[in-house]
Amino acid sequence: MEKWDVVVVGGGPGGSYAAKTAAEAGLKTVFFERGRKPGDKNSSGCGLGQRWWRDYPDLMEELQKLPSVRKVEMVVINLIDEHDRLRYRCGTTGSDLCANRWPHGMDGISIYRSDLDPFLADLAVKAGAELRASTLVSDVIMENGQVRGVKTEKGEPILAEVVIAADGAMSTMAKKAGMRERWGGGCTLVPQLDFGCNEDKMEDIIGNAEWCWFGPLYGTYQVNFRDGFHIGAGQWLRDDWDEKPLEMMKKVVKIPGFQAMCRAIEAKPREYQAHMLPWLKKPPKTYTGGMMLVGDAAGFPCPLEAEGIWHAVTSGKIAAETAAWAISRGDASEKALAEYERRWKASDLGKEHEFGPEFVDLWNSSIFDPKLMARQIQLLLEFSMLHPFSIVFDWGDAHMDCFNQHLEHILDLAPEFSEFGKTYIAPLARGIWPKNVKRLLLKVKPRIPALRRLSDDNFFKVVAKLSKGLAPYLDPDIRQDAPVPREVFEKGVRR
Ligand SMILES: Cc1cc2nc3c(=O)[nH]c(=O)nc-3n(C[C@H](O)[C@H](O)[C@H](O)COP(=O)(O)OP(=O)(O)OC[C@H]3O[C@@H](n4cnc5c(N)ncnc54)[C@H](O)[C@@H]3O)c2cc1C
Repeated sequence: MEKWDVVVVGGGPGGSYAAKTAAEAGLKTVFFERGRKPGDKNSSGCGLGQRWWRDYPDLMEELQKLPSVRKVEMVVINLIDEHDRLRYRCGTTGSDLCANRWPHGMDGISIYRSDLDPFLADLAVKAGAELRASTLVSDVIMENGQVRGVKTEKGEPILAEVVIAADGAMSTMAKKAGMRERWGGGCTLVPQLDFGCNEDKMEDIIGNAEWCWFGPLYGTYQVNFRDGFHIGAGQWLRDDWDEKPLEMMKKVVKIPGFQAMCRAIEAKPREYQAHMLPWLKKPPKTYTGGMMLVGDAAGFPCPLEAEGIWHAVTSGKIAAETAAWAISRGDASEKALAEYERRWKASDLGKEHEFGPEFVDLWNSSIFDPKLMARQIQLLLEFSMLHPFSIVFDWGDAHMDCFNQHLEHILDLAPEFSEFGKTYIAPLARGIWPKNVKRLLLKVKPRIPALRRLSDDNFFKVVAKLSKGLAPYLDPDIRQDAPVPREVFEKGVRR
């Protein structure tokens, strides 16, 4: 019977990167892909953001050369009201800080999966892993409650010291190993419509940007490639929403601003798909005896905006490194593989999930709530009117009158949105680093006659006593450049 150090199930980004890392560590590695080749289905978008430059700079250099790539230097947000009118368009390109944080500023890329997946799989093969495509893995081999290998659809048994399951959102491996039956809420279905376009016109009109269409629509994102784009909209598995995914896509396509863009770049619909995507408040357990889950199989996509490729690649890397560590100790038991969860939680992947419950609740109750968004647009437009450029171009009255009227209107709207703010925005406050709260307080200190002569430390002690809300940030033992721990923030610091 065949025996490998590491068997990886799935030739998507998570699986290929796990296979590459395992092979580079000198482990005898095979990875299985059910498609005829990795990327065969060209599923999902693929915007790769700035942190790719931080974590995988060599890879990013190489990816630029692939045919479907469009650079991303900007995100354009289009706000649509309930009458389908385009009410606001703005863009973000980051700031000087971004340009200094990475050598490439805000840069990212968009790339079709039919380019990305084969490229990553090829890296794994070059590192020494064996790829078996057109092979569906249908079961795990269990012995004394531990995964010892897998079985292909044809019944072929393949043994392994460690199995890495990178088989996507519907992970057969997780189910067969008894780790879960269903997601139990949170996994969603994303409909996606792909368009082919005139490349030169895209260059002139779209440029190096991703676009979004927000309004009473279910937050539609538009990923732009070299000569095409696709739109997708999320969260179809909620109980309180009964519109069909395709109907929602039709609503987006009908927006006059969207149609104008399509005409300008000669966009023609090519393909409609729908894909499952985990969008979880918290990934469930990600390991069992003999097996670790990576990428979508583990529920890793970002809980705010569901970016998932970096998460798949990064978890694949951590899982393969943990496999090498476990194999070198001759122990791949459940207890040993708990090390995987410890490692990913301590990494940037863990940081991303620290605010999972808050992010999911916020998104579900704003961008993914068409009824609320119909109202929310009013508030967003009012905020946009306090923008310096908006005041310059509001010629309705004297400029300071314009400013005050808009300020008044925001204050009028405040009671309606205060419940939303309290429920969904206030819990995110614990993410503000304590050292930044202290800097803000020190700006106020000279203006408070009774306190301005105190030393900074004594000033913070007094403020902490006076304000339970500020006390958690002022605990002298708390880390200064990390979110305040949830339990500390919720209870406040007792003194
Ligand atoms: C519409 C949409 C748009 C998205 N846009 C973005 C984006 O812009 N940027 C971003 O970062 N993320 C995006 N994501 C999320 C991202 O696509 C996923 O998080 C990512 O693909 C996860 O990678 P993975 O390797 O874990 O799983 P997958 O990409 O799902 O790969 C799993 C692979 O395993 C194979 N497989 C499955 N079961 C078996 C089996 N039993 N035997 C053998 N092979 C098997 C599959 O064929 C597949 O190739 C998007 C997702 C969707 C649905």
